[in-house]
Amino acid sequence: MPYGRCETAVGGPLPLSGLPGSIGETGAVRVLLIEDEVGLTKALSRGLTAEGFTVDVAHDGLDGFHLASEGEYAAIVLDIMLPGMNGYQVCRKLRESAVWTPILMLTAKTGEYDEAEALDTGADDFLSKPFSFLVLVARLRALARRGSAPRPVMLSCDDLSLDPATRECRRCDQAIELTAREYALLEHLLRADGAVVSKRVLLDAVWGLDADDANVVEVYVGYLRRKIDVPFGRQSLVTVRGVGYRMVTDAT
Ligand code: CA
Repeated sequence: MPYGRCETAVGGPLPLSGLPGSIGETGAVRVLLIEDEVGLTKALSRGLTAEGFTVDVAHDGLDGFHLASEGEYAAIVLDIMLPGMNGYQVCRKLRESAVWTPILMLTAKTGEYDEAEALDTGADDFLSKPFSFLVLVARLRALARRGSAPRPVMLSCDDLSLDPATRECRRCDQAIELTAREYALLEHLLRADGAVVSKRVLLDAVWGLDADDANVVEVYVGYLRRKIDVPFGRQSLVTVRGVGYRMVTDAT
């Protein structure tokens, strides 16, 4: 039986028992399956139910988001290519709504989507289609055990990363020390995801009530560049003249 355009042509009926960590040890574990391919969701629900999971299914991103926000799930299996809202958007929106249910994202190796992006949006794990059912079950069990502790989404642009949980900034695997203002400025720019952010918005967001002079933004952008770009020969924090600043991917 194929799972996601299938490699492991698991022929015949699914194994119903005898797998390690199978049914009955911890009772039913409720999972949500968000996937639009009806054949795949049927096969997966049947297989997962046989493995002792209780399975709810959503066939598009919007339904998936609503069910995930309202239901109590031990884990969510989330496809990327979905009608309504794609998997990345569902994942990001759930995390923005402080829903921390572990998410296993199903990625397809089309070149358009990748694992790094899945993890950036707040997914906990990913599985490339086609995948093996047994691997899916093992990953789901591991995620369900992990629970739903808050895990802020890792922010990144190319090889520059910022971890809101630890406030660590790294480029090329090298740690970069940032002051509180520099950190806040970079976090805002990274959260904009490539969009231009105006000086005014940055000033309000980072300096708030202390804000008096928009030139302070320019000064701090300069400090940031000297830490995140200059030493690495990059130009990722760019000025959009008369508008503001944005982060760009930079292959140099
Ligand atoms: Ca799909």
